[in-house]
Amino acid sequence: MANSIEFIPPAYSSRVEPESVARDMLRAGRAEIDELVAAGLPYEERAGVRHFDVNDLYNLGMYSGASTTQPELAFRMLFRFAGRPVDDLLRPKTWDFRVTLECAGCDEDAAWKLEEPDVVRFGGGVAGLSPLTGGRGTAEYSAMVTTTGARTPLVSPVLRRLTRDYLDAGYRWQMIPVPMQADYELVHALGATSCIAASLFLAERFRVAGYRAEARRGWFCGVLGGALDLPHACVEVEDDDGATKTVDIAKAQLAARLSPDTGPFQELCLGSIYNKVIPSTASGNAAFGHHECGSPLPIQVRADIRSARGS
Ligand SMILES: [Zn+2]
Repeated sequence: MANSIEFIPPAYSSRVEPESVARDMLRAGRAEIDELVAAGLPYEERAGVRHFDVNDLYNLGMYSGASTTQPELAFRMLFRFAGRPVDDLLRPKTWDFRVTLECAGCDEDAAWKLEEPDVVRFGGGVAGLSPLTGGRGTAEYSAMVTTTGARTPLVSPVLRRLTRDYLDAGYRWQMIPVPMQADYELVHALGATSCIAASLFLAERFRVAGYRAEARRGWFCGVLGGALDLPHACVEVEDDDGATKTVDIAKAQLAARLSPDTGPFQELCLGSIYNKVIPSTASGNAAFGHHECGSPLPIQVRADIRSARGS
């Protein structure tokens, strides 16, 4: 199991999950954890308890092939939609969208900023808005956000070739901490990929080929109860027909890895938009939110996004 993934390098690793969590996630006993450690799984021992990075545990579980680990079950559930007819992804859909921003240990009364949903450009809308209001240490934003889909595949042969080259390169999709994803060259040098890193990498390739392209962050909806905190990004690129297309390269790759019967969804990811993504105004390696208190620590931004009743 340990040979199939790249462990998070020490500079980006946060070993805070105790062994009990590792056993639950991987459905493993002490002997199996010992084997993983012997095979290189990084850990830190505190008060006699081994602690692990949550991304390492996710990736081990995801590629274990056991089909019983928590990550495998979570991803199978999350991507069930990708094997269904894609028409359901093209209709308008409304989401109850709530975001909480937290600045740890902060008691300063300073302004808050949030990169808000940016759906109107793509035929969606925002209603029932409760604008960002904050007190000390925490702020909230909520709205009913409607997304929709449209079939707008890439038409440029150059963009299609660059996209295909990327998919054929065989990078392995992994959960990777957001700060490490900004170092997209490191991620790809390890043979790995993830949504933000992939989008930053591909946007750069598009620009080198002479196209206007930018990676953008957004929210991938349908992750129930925060069971899976899956960072999302895609590339916006101006195609030969003058239209702005959205390339969700990492989702195409992840869907292909998880299930071969997701061809129509994979194609949708290459230029079209679909209703399970809420784009934001944040660029690919920017934060979703900010507290102007002067703290050097990044704030926590937690989204709770649920399908609205009847939608
Ligand atoms: Zn603060």
